[in-house]
Amino acid sequence: MTRQWLAELAWLPGQGICRDVLIEANGDRFTAVTPGSAASSTERLAGLTLPGFANAHSHAFHRALRGVTQADRGTFWTWRERMYQVAARLDPDSYLALARAVYAEMTLAGISCVGEFHYLHHQPDGRPYADPNAMGRALVQAAAEAGLRITLLDTCYLAGGLDQSGVLPLAGPQIRFGDGDGAKWAARVEALCPDGRDPDAQGLDGQGLIAPHARAGAAIHSVRAVPPEHMYPVVTWASRHDAPLHVHLSEQRAENDACRAVYGVSPTRLLYDEDVLGPRTSVVHATHLSSADLQLLGGSQVYACLCPTTERDLGDGLAPARPLAAVGCSLTLGSDSHAVIDILEEARGVEYAERLARRSRGHFTAEALLQAATSAGHASLGWLDAGEITPGARADLVTVSLDSIRTAGTRSHAGGELALEAAVFAASAADVRTVVISGRDVVRDGVHQLVPDVPGELARTIRAVLG
Ligand SMILES: [Zn+2]
Repeated sequence: MTRQWLAELAWLPGQGICRDVLIEANGDRFTAVTPGSAASSTERLAGLTLPGFANAHSHAFHRALRGVTQADRGTFWTWRERMYQVAARLDPDSYLALARAVYAEMTLAGISCVGEFHYLHHQPDGRPYADPNAMGRALVQAAAEAGLRITLLDTCYLAGGLDQSGVLPLAGPQIRFGDGDGAKWAARVEALCPDGRDPDAQGLDGQGLIAPHARAGAAIHSVRAVPPEHMYPVVTWASRHDAPLHVHLSEQRAENDACRAVYGVSPTRLLYDEDVLGPRTSVVHATHLSSADLQLLGGSQVYACLCPTTERDLGDGLAPARPLAAVGCSLTLGSDSHAVIDILEEARGVEYAERLARRSRGHFTAEALLQAATSAGHASLGWLDAGEITPGARADLVTVSLDSIRTAGTRSHAGGELALEAAVFAASAADVRTVVISGRDVVRDGVHQLVPDVPGELARTIRAVLG
């Protein structure tokens, strides 16, 4: 089906902000993009039109904790205990319902693709479901029903933590995260994605897709949860399938201290030595890094996924965003624990953290922050053909109102040329009016077209898991 839109203002690669842009698509791809068009009989997008946002780091079930964990004072570790309680209650049906509502919230915020860092694999006692990938498939289905693409970052999670004495076994609610060892993890994920090259195998199309809207990726939870001898099967699987590989890195100083005590090196160095770091790898948080760590990350050309709203909520510290970019890492953004779901807030959070840390302004342009939110984020999730409004790319559009209480008046500056700055530094998820994903209308006039009552679904599904 061919579609046309006329965007009042649109951000185009290599051209910046353009006016009166005629955007044409056939099916799920853009076919033509023409600035300065006089077309009038087509669908008009008032405000600023951007490519779809990529949420490169999500744990969907953490959405149930919003507000709950603010009620009493606590630490990262008490927050983690509360999170485990929710994790213990989910099954494939309740996770499908919760994730569908969370992903619908994401699409209302302009997110066209989510990277789901998924480790809730098995039954609470650790036994596999009849389909050992039932929980992962529930997330893929939830994304389909909410209208966005997903990279299911199937996560290897084998140990309960690290302390000065060594590797701790999985315990309590963590039992369901574990596959036993790295090879068993790979065997389970292979059943999700049996042969990325075989077009006849369970719907795969040779592009690494497990459904038209979904692809499989790999994750190593962290050096706390995966002993180094089990990283190799994960790295090998990701390499064989040309799949993204994500890993939490140095979110807390305690992780660095334990890693040094047990392995004698920093977490970055350990991952480097185990061949985890490379151009398809995303390191998530990357908060507490030495200059030697930064050089290893930059030399490995990894993506650095920053999650500023979660990092400030948990008191993690300030990730060295500017040094990471300076050594050659591409920055991406994630809403992680979903303390809020607002990629524009994540984007400005990166710049504001630098300003506070360095007591100076102007580290990242609005354009650089939006690249993290769009093209870099999609690429880090394996969708190299998404994140730009350009012919041949996936037809994802997000229109941000320039007439809301937050953005009114910004259109008049320099004829709209500062609309990117207005969007990144003043707008919020509530200003997203239109969302098109792979050529399909998912949000119109701020209303989800597939999930009729997103707040109601969130309330109902969260109540079910909080009890
Ligand atoms: Zn995370």
